[in-house]
Parts: sequence; C-alpha cells; structure tokens
Amino acid sequence: MSKTKKPARRAAPPEMAPAPRPSREQAQEAVRTLIRWAGDNPAREGLRGTPDRVVRSYEEFFAGYQLDPREILKRTFEEVAGYDEMVVLRDIRFESYCEHHMVPIIGRAHVAYMPSKRVVGISKLARVVETYAKRLQIQEKMTAQIAQAINEVLEPNGVAVVLEAAHQCMTTRGVHKPGVMMVTSHMLGAFRENEATRKEFLSIISRTASHDT
Ligand SMILES: [Zn+2]
Repeated sequence: MSKTKKPARRAAPPEMAPAPRPSREQAQEAVRTLIRWAGDNPAREGLRGTPDRVVRSYEEFFAGYQLDPREILKRTFEEVAGYDEMVVLRDIRFESYCEHHMVPIIGRAHVAYMPSKRVVGISKLARVVETYAKRLQIQEKMTAQIAQAINEVLEPNGVAVVLEAAHQCMTTRGVHKPGVMMVTSHMLGAFRENEATRKEFLSIISRTASHDT
C-alpha cells in the first residue's frame, strides 16, 4: 500500500454550528413534502393537521437541544459526609432518535458514579440522560456524552454508564430484527481501573437487565 498523503479534506463544520433555524411554517412545509413523497395528499382531511402535529412532536422529541446537561448537574451538594461508595441509578427509560434514520431508539440507561467532592440529586442524573436522548443520536456517542458530563461537573472518583436499547431502524426496517438490544458502556476512573468496582456495578444492573422495555 502506498503511503502517499491524501489531499487535505475541507474542515468539517463545528459540531454545534448554529445554522439559521427554519421557521415553523418552513418545517410544516417540509412535512407536506414528505407526505407527498410518500404518496399521499397533504390536503386531504385526515392529513390537514398533520404537519402542525409533527412539528409539535419534534419540539418534544428534540427538546434536548435547548438544554445544557452541565448546567443541570451544577446544583450539587458538597456535604457528602464521607460517603464515597457507588451511587447507582438503574433502569432510566429513555427515548432517543437515530441520527441516521430519524426513528426511535428506545431503551434504558444505568448510571453510576463514585462521589468524591460532591453528590447530585438523582433526578439530575435522569435529566442528563433525557437531555442527551432528546437529540439526534447514535447510542455510542450518547453513552460517552452522559459519562463525560458527569465526570466533568462532579469530578467523582469514577463514572459508569451502560445503555441498552432497541433501534427501530433495525427492528422495523432494514434487516427487521425485533428483540435485538444494543448494549454500550463507558467507564471512567475507578470503574475502568478497578475490576472489583466494575463487577459490582455490572452485577447491580444485571439484576434487571433481562426484562424488556
Ligand atoms: Zn438508524
């Protein structure tokens, strides 16, 4: 294989580049286009309100873009009273959307950390999962984002995140394999370095890992 350098590619646009946001009317028009493209008539009675409803649904599905997970985590309690054992929140149900097909990814998240300086209300951990879920995602990226946000803000001794999810782009189209769950994990600090810690976490979450979502 030759080792000649490939010509430099144009720099990719920054991840969160603020593209001008289309108007609500433009978004609704795009839905009408998709309805026509699917083969139906957006002017018929049953579909007349659909573009408006789809756009409203998108506001819910993608609410995570309006939220900053690091801000959510910042309200912490410094008083840990010497508690330095694992805190585990398991079975956090989430609904996300595959960035390749824009169809749901439905699953559960298990999040753990080992407090060092601060602890956070457990509902905040669930909100962090929710914030990253309500965006266009791939599961691997979402797993890492949750772990990194917790790690950066709480500065704990370790963070572990496991996501188990069914991807509708795989269950309802393409290879059509219902029942397949994708499992991803991201371990930092003690969970990565200490096998006993990691095993303890995995055994806690495996007690519930068998039932369906
Ligand atoms: Zn997909």
